[in-house]
Amino acid sequence: MSLVFEHVALGQRVLFGTGKAAENLAAEVERLGAQKVMVIASEFEATIADVVCAGISPVLRWDQVVMHVPVEVAEKARAAAAEHEIDLLVCVGGGSTTGLAKAVALTSGIQIVAVPTTYAGSEATNVWGLTDAARKTTGVDDSVLPVSVVYDAGLTLSLPVEMSVASGLNGMAHCIDSLWAPRADPINAALAAEGIRALNQGLPLIKADPQDLQGREQALYGAYLSAVAFASAGSGMHHKICHVLGGTFNLPHAQTHATVLSYVLAFNAPAAPEAAARAAAAFGAEDALTGLNRLRDILDAPKALADYGFTEGNIPEAVRIALPTIPASNPRKVTAENLTRLLITATVGEDPKTLTDL
Ligand code: NAD
Repeated sequence: MSLVFEHVALGQRVLFGTGKAAENLAAEVERLGAQKVMVIASEFEATIADVVCAGISPVLRWDQVVMHVPVEVAEKARAAAAEHEIDLLVCVGGGSTTGLAKAVALTSGIQIVAVPTTYAGSEATNVWGLTDAARKTTGVDDSVLPVSVVYDAGLTLSLPVEMSVASGLNGMAHCIDSLWAPRADPINAALAAEGIRALNQGLPLIKADPQDLQGREQALYGAYLSAVAFASAGSGMHHKICHVLGGTFNLPHAQTHATVLSYVLAFNAPAAPEAAARAAAAFGAEDALTGLNRLRDILDAPKALADYGFTEGNIPEAVRIALPTIPASNPRKVTAENLTRLLITATVGEDPKTLTDL
């Protein structure tokens, strides 16, 4: 079979090293010649930011961070950046904090150096998100891609196990959804497969011992690969569904991804044998769903959307908004009927296997 594809790689400098965040960040700020740095970190991330920023002299610290980046929160941060004539944004935190830095970069063009403390992966994508009146809008713009990422697994040691599991499975969702996303190609598939392998290895180590640095490093490395694959392949069915659940129903991002993933995998795998075989091999399992469910069992992963406040009564609205956004290239045809069934199953936490023969 001939190999024909078009692949775009995003340009970004990645500095990975446990215990090296402060040193690597200071070197990056100097290399970029920044004079007026704005550090964005939520109040819960402030202690980590203090350590990471020990070698730089920011002119502004900003802690007003809200998940899914409400427009009014972004506007305030943008005004503050303009007022202080900021020439570099440094974000230290999870996807919400990175998301706010991206919102500022989007309208100002100010470069970002990202220091992630979860496995969300936003730091490695050119995707921004903003929420206005309960509708989440996302877009793609290279100006929001952090120019550099400073990874330090030591910064994730304080991430509670439950959040580490949910966030790590958010990374896993980037990998698996990439395998059938609209721009899936052999390069992003290779990155996604290595991401699955690394997360599948790292997350159980974290579950067994949250202070296990080897597990934390593997998970962080896997999270980066997952995000590069996702940025390249685009949003597949899984992301389109979770986007609506987060933006319209305000469900927590990582936990929602962690819950929905096995349902979308069960639904799509029979119609996507190559993607499923790739994922199965990366899990070292006989089939992809078995591999994912084995990992989920070890991790005691989130099981039901109902646990996060989603109800069966919300499903018709979720289907109405999500259905038109699901890519036509999805391996299995998605209808209002089968999407409703998928969401009912995910809401109550029923065995995903019931979706394989829809
Ligand atoms: P989050 O950033 O909201 O963090 C969750 C909680 O964990 C917060 O209270 C935070 O303060 C805390 N936290 C973060 N790091 C910690 C640490 N090391 N120790 C202790 N506590 C810590 O959650 P998230 O899942 O990282 O990010 C979710 C957001 O990121 C969503 O808005 C999502 O849309 C966005 N996202 C965007 C992209 C993209 O490509 N644009 C990709 C993934 C996620």
